Amino acid sequence: MCSPLPAPPLGECLNAASPLQSTPPKGERRGGRYFLFCQGDILLTKEGTIPCGDTPPIELKPWEEVTVLKHSPKGGAGRGLLVGLLSHPVTDRPDLQMMPLRKTFHILSAEDYQLAGKCAELVYFHQNSKFCGVCGGEMRWQTEISKQCKECGKELWPSLATAIIVRVTRGDEILMVHAHNFRDRHYGLVAGFVETGETLEECVQREVWEETQLRITNIRYFASQPWPYPSGLMVGFTADYLSGEIVLQKAELSDGGWYKRDNLPFLPDPSSIAYRLIMDWASHD
Ligand SMILES: [Zn+2]
Repeated sequence: MCSPLPAPPLGECLNAASPLQSTPPKGERRGGRYFLFCQGDILLTKEGTIPCGDTPPIELKPWEEVTVLKHSPKGGAGRGLLVGLLSHPVTDRPDLQMMPLRKTFHILSAEDYQLAGKCAELVYFHQNSKFCGVCGGEMRWQTEISKQCKECGKELWPSLATAIIVRVTRGDEILMVHAHNFRDRHYGLVAGFVETGETLEECVQREVWEETQLRITNIRYFASQPWPYPSGLMVGFTADYLSGEIVLQKAELSDGGWYKRDNLPFLPDPSSIAYRLIMDWASHD
């Protein structure tokens, strides 16, 4: 068990419609918010919101409490966020539901979806940092997002798996590929993990070369996106075709090619930065 956690500090409750919210004193809406996970699912109210209130929506065992975040990523002060890992999914409460984190993109606000992803990454970090990699000692929470070894003092923060994704265009065509590990029949963009000692731009060039045998130029940053499946950061780029004919990396890709705006294949999920990159191109002549 970790060091004892404080009770979630009181803070502004965004989830005013939640039936779990207790009556606030003096007309104020105050309370904690609860990001509770089990087997990749997150606990939501029946209405599809983050549970909110002065007490957790279900009774939590001490070992189910992972960490408490005092602030939202945008710096909202005083909002207590309790992150938890449930031993069993909640299936017997008509006012609550469990839902895969990915699906919540379509239900939660953009801010809450990103916050839920951060909490899921902290749960993953917690599950994978029980003991010190240096001396084998017990790791305990040091700050709300980091741990320290009880024996040797080594500090540890969640490590991100950084990946690039790139939109390559040639005239009025876009390069799209289908990988063997895609869950459905959608086509995406060339992507891959950044290797140690490599710049992001070098990674973009390497991945395009490895997957398609194409040379590219004019690499430009587009945007980035946390990808909490389980703990990633996607960094999006655009680039122009330079030379070569497509030769697909068969071990990774099952299909790929150049597509025009009026002949696009099945697109990635709107929650992905791939979708944003493609739609940004498709909406411009
Ligand atoms: Zn240690």
